[in-house]
Amino acid sequence: MIVGDVAAGRPAVVAFGANLGDRRATVLAAVRELAGEDGVEVTAVSDVVESVAVKPAGEDPAAPAYLNGVVLLRTTLAPVELLVVLNRIEDAHGRVRIERWGDRTLDLDLIDYDGEVSDDPRLTLPHPHAVERDFVLRPWLQVDGEATLTGRGRVADLLAALEAGR
Ligand code: ATP
Ligand code: CA
Ligand code: CA
Repeated sequence: MIVGDVAAGRPAVVAFGANLGDRRATVLAAVRELAGEDGVEVTAVSDVVESVAVKPAGEDPAAPAYLNGVVLLRTTLAPVELLVVLNRIEDAHGRVRIERWGDRTLDLDLIDYDGEVSDDPRLTLPHPHAVERDFVLRPWLQVDGEATLTGRGRVADLLAALEAGR
């Protein structure tokens, strides 16, 4: 399989977020760059939604708010190769890693990769926090009404449960 033959690739879900700088310009550029990668075909992009920053201690309305959204893609890249691409795009937008869940110009998380399951801390699949994040589940559901989070069930049900628990 050649790397550019994305029709033969596998489906994956990437979540994006940004809460520093020109957030909208950054996330739009990141989606464009991802779509331009060899072996990646973006098949859907959600609306961009604004959400309160979450820090280890919980929601932090004092921190700059995020713009979040979700991209669906097909790829011939292996999961780790796709993560390397995501990290490279983050770096190109000046991503600096200082503290866990710290403010950032761009965050690209691999949410689900064709049902793969991994507990490797360098690449955990599906993303371990997706299930509790409405800013991931809602845009995902928007672009795929039938979406399921591997091992956890339908995204529509997960989002409803999250909203019921508030
Ligand atoms: P969170 O993962 O809770 O959303 P974060 O996005 O702020 O937190 P980062 O600082 O961006 O965390 O990444 C920390 C590490 O997480 C990275 O070094 C990366 O290797 C690892 N990681 C593990 N699983 C994933 C995944 N599914 N998607 C992206 N990064 C992952
Ligand atoms: Ca993240
Ligand atoms: Ca991340």
